Amino acid sequence: MSELTPLTGEALAEIAACADLAALDAVRVRWLGKKGRITEQLKHSGKRVASEGTETVVALQAARQAIEGALAERRAAIGAAALAREIEAGRLDVTLPGRGEEPGGLHPVTLARLRIETLFRRAGFDVASGPEIEDDFHNFGALNIPANHPARAMHDTFYFADGRLLRTHTSPVQIRALRERGAPLAVIAPGRVYRCDSDITHSPMFHQLEGLAVGEGVSFANMKAVLHGFMEAFFERDLAMRLRPSYFPFTEPSAEVDMSCVFCQGQGCRVCKHSGWLELAGCGMVHPHVLEACGVDPERYTGYAFGAGIDRLAMLRYGGNDLRLFFENDQRFLRQFRAFRA
Ligand SMILES: [Zn+2]
Repeated sequence: MSELTPLTGEALAEIAACADLAALDAVRVRWLGKKGRITEQLKHSGKRVASEGTETVVALQAARQAIEGALAERRAAIGAAALAREIEAGRLDVTLPGRGEEPGGLHPVTLARLRIETLFRRAGFDVASGPEIEDDFHNFGALNIPANHPARAMHDTFYFADGRLLRTHTSPVQIRALRERGAPLAVIAPGRVYRCDSDITHSPMFHQLEGLAVGEGVSFANMKAVLHGFMEAFFERDLAMRLRPSYFPFTEPSAEVDMSCVFCQGQGCRVCKHSGWLELAGCGMVHPHVLEACGVDPERYTGYAFGAGIDRLAMLRYGGNDLRLFFENDQRFLRQFRAFRA
């Protein structure tokens, strides 16, 4: 009996020191297992009772009970601690306010394109689209730019190994539309175009708007009225317009379209380089060769075509002075346009 009390104390101390269930099980085996220290002493209970009386055996049984009780208690405590740790780790405070979803907005180039489409649809134009990977015929040949034509030097073209190319303008869309639908026809083709060029005012990918109207009696004066009307509607103000003679292989005669500066009303400012004018488009009467290439009789039909940069129109309408900002997707820049409507 006197030997047992410190023995039980030793077992209880070991149990109390256990940090996990594996350690606890090792302690259980050491004391109460088949060859455990208490079990060994209880093996010869019969002989002991005969020689020493019941006292020692009763004490041993009490010790075993105390150890079993302590084991169960410690097991429960370790389990509760593990559960508490798990709950703490996966803690979710459902009363916290949400992180909030910021509403998205349209990119200024998209805003400009949608506005352009709306205005031209209102004027009776269809919106056409076509492939960005083109062949030589649609991008150059059908537009009166045969091989070795010097105008090809104006287009720094990305070519594929098989001779196909990334379209350098959206004019091939007009060729496709005219060949498919024939005359009369009025379409605009807004879309991405590609040229090997990159600086503060040029991006290797940019957005172009092209327009084409073909019909009987379509005149230069019609074109001037449509373009003037479009520019005033797009910028929502009265603007003066002037045409300067120019050259494009696919139109004859050709002209550059200048509008009075939208910032200074023609007074002269930094944006218009103090000229009072902004160069906004190129245009002209469709060259008879182009009509022929599309199977349209140039003796019966005439047409006009024009082209403008959507990115430039967007910059002038929504602000911004570096074209590259439009393609870097910097959220601080784009967020400013969230409230804008096309
Ligand atoms: Zn100006």
